[in-house]
Order: sequence, then C-alpha cells, then structure tokens
Amino acid sequence: MKSYELKNLNITNSVFLLTSPIIAILGTLLWLYVDGFSWEILGLAFVFYILTGMGITAGYHRLFAHRAYKANSIMKVLYLIFGGCALQNSALKWCNDHRVHHGKVDTEEDPYNINEGFFYAHMGWILLQENIEDYRYSKDLLKDPLVMLQHRFYLPMIVVFGFLLPAIIGHVFFDSFLGGLFVAGFLRVVVVHHATFFINSLCHMVGNRPYDKEQTARDSWLMAFFTFGEGYHNFHHTFQADYRNGIKAYHFDPTKWLIKSLSYIGFTSGLRVTREEVILEKKIRAGLKDIENQTTFTDKVNERVENLKDELNQILEELQVQSRDNKDKLVARLDEMMSEIKGLSLQLELVHA
Ligand SMILES: [Zn+2]
Ligand SMILES: [Zn+2]
Repeated sequence: MKSYELKNLNITNSVFLLTSPIIAILGTLLWLYVDGFSWEILGLAFVFYILTGMGITAGYHRLFAHRAYKANSIMKVLYLIFGGCALQNSALKWCNDHRVHHGKVDTEEDPYNINEGFFYAHMGWILLQENIEDYRYSKDLLKDPLVMLQHRFYLPMIVVFGFLLPAIIGHVFFDSFLGGLFVAGFLRVVVVHHATFFINSLCHMVGNRPYDKEQTARDSWLMAFFTFGEGYHNFHHTFQADYRNGIKAYHFDPTKWLIKSLSYIGFTSGLRVTREEVILEKKIRAGLKDIENQTTFTDKVNERVENLKDELNQILEELQVQSRDNKDKLVARLDEMMSEIKGLSLQLELVHA
C-alpha cells in the first residue's frame, strides 16, 4: 500500500485537490447568502460542467490520447481550452499518463493501478504524483503546436477560462459574480474532477467484462451515466482506438454522439470503428473461456464448446474471402453463437447455484 506521508505528497496537487471542495462549499454558501439562489447560475454551472467534462472525454481522451478520430483546429482549440479547465493537467501530461495506463494496466507501472485500492486509483495517485517531465509515450503530441501552446500557458489559461470567464458571464448576464466564480467555477471543477476520476477507480471495479477478463476494466451503464459514456471501460481497454465506448445505439455515450454529430458538419473526421466480427470474436472467446472455467463442466458441454470453437475459426477464415452479402450472414451467425454461449453460461450458473 502507498504511504501518504507529507514527504511523499505532491504539494501543489494536494493543496488544490483538498482545498477546492472547501472553497466550493464556502463560496456557494456565500453566493446563496449575498446574491440568493438562481436557476440561471445553476444552468451556467451545468454548461461549464458539460463543456469541461466533454473536453476531457472527447478531447483529451478519445482525440489526443487515443487518436480515435481527427478534429479540425477549431475543435482542437476548444478541447484544449475547456478540457484544460477541468483542471486535470495539460493535455500532454494527461495523455502521457493515460497511454501508460493502457500499456501497463493493473501493474506497478500503471499510474492509476486499481490493485492499490479505490482511493489510490481515484485520486491518491494525483496526491503522490512526482513532477517528472518524461513524455516518451507522447512524441506525436510534443510535435503538435496547439498541444504545446496549451502546455506552456496552462496555468494562466485555466485562471482566465476556468474561473474568470464564468465569473464575468455570471456578473454580466445574471448579475452574480460570486455565483459564476464559485458555482460555475469551483463547485463545477470539484464535480467534474470526481466524475472523471470515477473512470480510473469505479470503472475498474463496477460492472462486467464481456470482452477481456484478464484485466480489471469493466462495462457498466451506470458508470457510463456518470462519466459522459466512458463507463463501457472493458470495451474501451480492449478496443482503445475505437471512437465509441458504448457500441450499441442505446448505450449512453454522449461523447460518441458529440463526435458523430460533429462529423456531419465536417468538424471531425476519420472516426475509427472496430469491425463487428472482431468485436464478436473477442466476446465469443471470452464467453467460451468463462464456460470452461465453470466447475460443473460436463462432457456434453465440453463437446459443444469445442464445436463452437471450430465453427468460430472456420467463420473467421471465411470472412477473409467472402463478398459483403455473405459476410453479413456470417456475422449474423456469430451473433447467434454469442446468444447460445450466453444461454449455456446461464444454464451452468443455474446448475452451480
Ligand atoms: Zn483510454
Ligand atoms: Zn482504465
């Protein structure tokens, strides 16, 4: 377990992370006392919550860290400004940490290793983070002038856009400087912090693992609801280059919807999507492995599992050479196989219970 002794702490990070909730609460009380409650200020805070939260998920995460799509300069500037105002470091630093997280997930080298416990993965790692400027995983970003500009002017940028801007909007339009500063500024930062910190903590703890059971990342619609769609984290860790995290139309993934909508007006392009058969193959193999791990495994089930494995390999081979029409039929067959595997799993669980 990590030790949170004073000598180990990153003082700047710790002071900000621990005092910002206090400033947010006291400031909000001051706003209520001096200016009184107003829905407009709450609305302003919500707009900044969406802008900065999505700046992280659509911008920092899916664009800059994973290159899951391309964006024009207007979007890149907006992502860098508002993602920056979520106060989670410059894009360069954030993406570098995140790429290490994917490459070394669940190991000692994972910056937010969940095996160190919920608190460490959630925010403890930020309290203990050393100030090392080693960007070996982000050579592409070091060459990006906009990313480097944001890195250089990060501090003045967050003061101006993260705090002064909402305060001025609050003052000019809603007659409340305090509401803009403390509710749309500080309180909003604290809420966005914890919403996105959940991705590193609870998204590695809550939910199931349909694609890869070897690592801790999990899929959960509930977590997706709190994290702008990033809760389909097992899918994301398995197919990190995909611009989507929730792949079904009904999956709650507002980050995916934003990226897709922007593609219709040419602001985003080259959206990377994993082929359906590749996704189904992963799911089928994970499902079969699950059945094989059951203690109530019988000869009959064993035979069926072997047959399904053979059929899967055969279909994958055929998919390489087939025309589009036949491909659709084969993919539909993979879908059926997945349903059968789910049924088999359920039966075994019932027997086991
Ligand atoms: Zn990621
Ligand atoms: Zn993760």
